Amino acid sequence: MNDIVDLHCDVLSKLLREQEEKFDGTGDSKLDVTRQRLVDGGVGLQVFAIYIPDDMPKTPETALHAAELFWSKVLAAPGMHPVRRGADVEEARKNGGIGAVLSLEGADSLQGQWWALRLLHRLGVRLLGMTWNHANWACDGAMEPRGGGLTKAGRQLVRECESLGILLDVSHLSEKGFWNLAEMAAKPFFASHSNARAIRNHPRNLTDEQIRALIAVNGLIGLTFVPWFLTEREPAKIDDVLRHVERVCQLGGERHLAFGSDFDGIERHVEGLAHPGQYPALAEALTARYPEHLVSGFLGGNARRFLTANLV
Ligand SMILES: [Zn+2]
Repeated sequence: MNDIVDLHCDVLSKLLREQEEKFDGTGDSKLDVTRQRLVDGGVGLQVFAIYIPDDMPKTPETALHAAELFWSKVLAAPGMHPVRRGADVEEARKNGGIGAVLSLEGADSLQGQWWALRLLHRLGVRLLGMTWNHANWACDGAMEPRGGGLTKAGRQLVRECESLGILLDVSHLSEKGFWNLAEMAAKPFFASHSNARAIRNHPRNLTDEQIRALIAVNGLIGLTFVPWFLTEREPAKIDDVLRHVERVCQLGGERHLAFGSDFDGIERHVEGLAHPGQYPALAEALTARYPEHLVSGFLGGNARRFLTANLV
């Protein structure tokens, strides 16, 4: 079984810092996400984000270094296949293989230079979140107090991404930025790792209106396992994840719901859901509550349909 899709992990950030860590390891390392754990958990497609921590230079060079690690560490492991176009989504998971999509979390490192975007696209970047939590040259993030939207250069970034075939990820984007993008986007966009604000009131989570807008554009909502985006009362449990699933379903998002764990980006975890090898526990909890065709959609079918249709 390799049906599961995970829309966000930060293992490339850990590899940037600790280059002796082995992605093709058994999981006894500092990494949450390893090839073995993806296999154990039934994950058939994983998105790998290039996220540059605040204490490292946010330059094209650092982003290119992370992209090189995607090729030399992640894709070098047995059975891992790059996913760059729609047809790769199914092709990659034949014979038990695992597809790997490269994304850029935060456009800071591009420093507004279009050559850097084009080069990262050539290296496999197909998904892009314009900013992390703060403001940058392209837009404001969800935690930026002034709450600005897209800049003029940010609007150009949207156009450049759409013409290259890079899909826009609204997780971390400010609310105003979200609506600016919604207004101008010519292609479907998605949230890789955000939850429902009606269930947990946090600026990183999506309002009901935002979730409805993502459904309306035939986008995707990747619910995340970040404990403090799930509940105010930690430790978070798998039941807390289900409360967010239910909210998205109530809003009509049954065919737009997916998961983006944020493994390797978090220090605390949902109980029993600390790495990809534990996905079966979530599958079991979903199966106890929803019909099988919906569960298979949530765990992978919806995301595969979205990526197959929109990666060109
Ligand atoms: Zn993130």
